[in-house]
Amino acid sequence: MKRVFSGFQPTGELHIGNYLGAMVNYVALGEKLGRDAIYCIVDYHAPTNPAAYDKELLRQRTFEAGLVNIAAGLDPDKVILFVQSHVPEHTELAWVFTTQTPYGDLTRMTQFKDKAAKLESVPAGLLMYPVLMAADILIYKADTVPVGDDQTQHLELAREIARRWNLEYGETFPEPQIYLNPNAPRVPGIDGKAKMSKSVGNTIGILEDAESIWQKIRVMPDDPARIRLSDPGDPDRSVAFKFLQYFAPPELIQVLREEYARRGIGTLAVKQLLFQEMMKSLRPIRERAAELRANPERVMDALEDGARRARAIAQATMEEVREKFGLLSPR
Ligand code: ATP
Ligand code: MG
Repeated sequence: MKRVFSGFQPTGELHIGNYLGAMVNYVALGEKLGRDAIYCIVDYHAPTNPAAYDKELLRQRTFEAGLVNIAAGLDPDKVILFVQSHVPEHTELAWVFTTQTPYGDLTRMTQFKDKAAKLESVPAGLLMYPVLMAADILIYKADTVPVGDDQTQHLELAREIARRWNLEYGETFPEPQIYLNPNAPRVPGIDGKAKMSKSVGNTIGILEDAESIWQKIRVMPDDPARIRLSDPGDPDRSVAFKFLQYFAPPELIQVLREEYARRGIGTLAVKQLLFQEMMKSLRPIRERAAELRANPERVMDALEDGARRARAIAQATMEEVREKFGLLSPR
């Protein structure tokens, strides 16, 4: 692992699934790799899905994504954190790749098929999404991409794009590998069902108002077999217990599980504990976020600095690509 790249879309409020599944990982890799850990807020990806894009909100959400990641522990002096549209070489390389990628490779992407099926009019950009993603990664010659397993197919395509280019135009790009952290959980939504997802609206936001978080925890489904407090409960069928494992120490959970099964403790008490433990874990992030919100120029400075460093790498790659691709250089 020499250089990692990962991107996240500014499509909504970042949630505890993003935090536990991705951001914790970003921070750890950043500690290890410093400036070879490159994290990008991929704002040009957001408008490819009209269901998740809102021109009135994009700017604010992009800023928020920067703020939350810094608040969660990403050190912009160590890693490179920047906004995709601030480095226009991404879209330039994406066009070059677009001309070299078979149409059929894109139409068989399952994410495209799923998202397109829900739309009346499908933007061409939705089809091109994985090409832009390949450009995001390859422009930094990143060899490792920490993302969720929902991105496996897109990563396979990025490798294919790199391989095809290297064969045709000479060795240029490493074939990037997906990095799935076995310790990073796939967090379910607050109903305990599908994965927590910005676009589904089943989330608990990292910076969400405490009262609103409590209301969501309060109504989390319990073991349906447990009707009265005196009924024994199965902790594996209680959504609150699912979430508790991310925030409470294992010894405490073990005691609670036993109490719950033997009906020594009610669901409300488990939920109150979950709320307390969750707020305890989120508190430092929320405090740093409040500080940053009072000093927005610190976030803007970090993003500007990140874009400058990212762009230096991206420009060097684009020069090499233009040359190999056969374009006439301007004088
Ligand atoms: P959208 O619904 O717009 O796709 P999302 O909530 O799935 O949004 P992304 O921006 O697609 O969030 O993902 C950012 C990162 O967070 C990715 O690495 C993804 O794998 C990870 N991630 C997203 N949701 C979860 C989850 N519920 N549990 C663990 N990791 C998650
Ligand atoms: Mg997603």
